[in-house]
Amino acid sequence: MSSKKKRSALLVDVLAALGDVRITERYLIDEENKRTHFLHGTQTGEEIVINEAVSVVPTLLHELIHFVRPRWSETTVRRHCTMLVRQLEHSEVKAIYDQYVERKVTSDNS
Ligand SMILES: [Zn+2]
Repeated sequence: MSSKKKRSALLVDVLAALGDVRITERYLIDEENKRTHFLHGTQTGEEIVINEAVSVVPTLLHELIHFVRPRWSETTVRRHCTMLVRQLEHSEVKAIYDQYVERKVTSDNS
């Protein structure tokens, strides 16, 4: 990430607000389309809820597709990943995320 470029006032405000909110992690289903749609996050007052599962699971599926189809191009992997994510039930997204949480190993590069 660039550090030399001039930063927008919005970015300054956003970064300053980070300490002013309460952050919660929870699986969020989109009430307008309960069966298939989820929300990445919500904001209500000072509370921000992040749905980690829906960020992690597509990334994990993407890398798993590379693993099972090593010859596929990046574009092909991305296209199929989008299709696979749409086929998952909420319970499956949660189950995959639970496996991720249980099995991930933190690798610290610093
Ligand atoms: Zn890739």
